[in-house]
Amino acid sequence: MIIKSIKINKKIIFAIISIFLTITIISSYLIISKSTETNSLILWNKSSTNNTDKNENFIKWVDFNITSDALTKTAKLDIDSHNSDSEIKYNWIELLSYLACKNGGNFKNFNENDLTTLLEQLQNGKTIKELTKNMKYYNYYYESYSAVLSGFIGNYSIETENENGTTTFQDKYGIKAFLPIAKNYAFSHYDDFGASRSYGFKRTHLGNDLMGNTGTPIIAVESGTIEHLGWNQYGGWRIGIRSFDKKRYYYYAHLRKNHPYAAGLVEGSTVTAGDVIGYLGMTGYSIKENVNNINVPHLHFGIQLIFDESQVEGNNEIWIDVYNIIEFLKQNRSTVFMNNSETKDYVKKYNFKDNDLN
Ligand SMILES: [Zn+2]
Repeated sequence: MIIKSIKINKKIIFAIISIFLTITIISSYLIISKSTETNSLILWNKSSTNNTDKNENFIKWVDFNITSDALTKTAKLDIDSHNSDSEIKYNWIELLSYLACKNGGNFKNFNENDLTTLLEQLQNGKTIKELTKNMKYYNYYYESYSAVLSGFIGNYSIETENENGTTTFQDKYGIKAFLPIAKNYAFSHYDDFGASRSYGFKRTHLGNDLMGNTGTPIIAVESGTIEHLGWNQYGGWRIGIRSFDKKRYYYYAHLRKNHPYAAGLVEGSTVTAGDVIGYLGMTGYSIKENVNNINVPHLHFGIQLIFDESQVEGNNEIWIDVYNIIEFLKQNRSTVFMNNSETKDYVKKYNFKDNDLN
């Protein structure tokens, strides 16, 4: 009797092990076959396959690689169509999202013909909704690119000067984000995103270094709220500004020793696109405050995307390659002048109002 029960138990155990092994083999096959897709899409889909948490349905990763050429071409189409009587108004984010579906999210494969065909179809009365309804990842790209670019083009008013030197506000539609380096100040950069850095611990470079002269006025790319202002051991004197839609966190680091910031800025206060926020320098890489420990004066500029507050800090942060954004923004720079010879502070010359904000 005892021997028989042991035999039965052995059979049961064998059966359980077989089932377990089968499940393991099938699930690892599924994981392997899924990983052949791009990372971004896996991370995006993860939310829909995971039903454990209903609030997990947000974008987990964005690989931003739209070339400055594609940005410039689609921006021009958008802006020109809005400034003309043309019945069809293009939306550059829609155009770019459609193109991403065509090139698999890699703008190295950008084909001008795809854009030409798209424009023809839109001219012939098709809507972007119709044209993209079978594109599986269109919504992913649209949401991702909106997070990056939605503050860059729109309605604004800017002060303009006439011959008598009087200024008036003019309403415009166009590029309303500014290059972070003030107009008439030289800088150089190359695509250094992802390069390795060794201070502290080994980590990758999550921004773009803009080499320039110490004291160069640094400009707010977009309007927003100052979330961080002060010393950070990596960034030195740094400033972190969150866009009003909360999707973008702009990070400006290594600001000037002794006089890093424009007057009057505090955490919690707001800045307007085009404002002088600080001065280029070489602080950072030190636990001690106000120390120049960087070899070459430069602005470290970064953009972090935030789809959910769990991505603000830690392993879930999404920093994008901003090299092409800097190239794109070269066409819109803020003119500044010294308004206080005692403190040597600069301010922007032409007032600017974002008309899409309330
Ligand atoms: Zn850097």
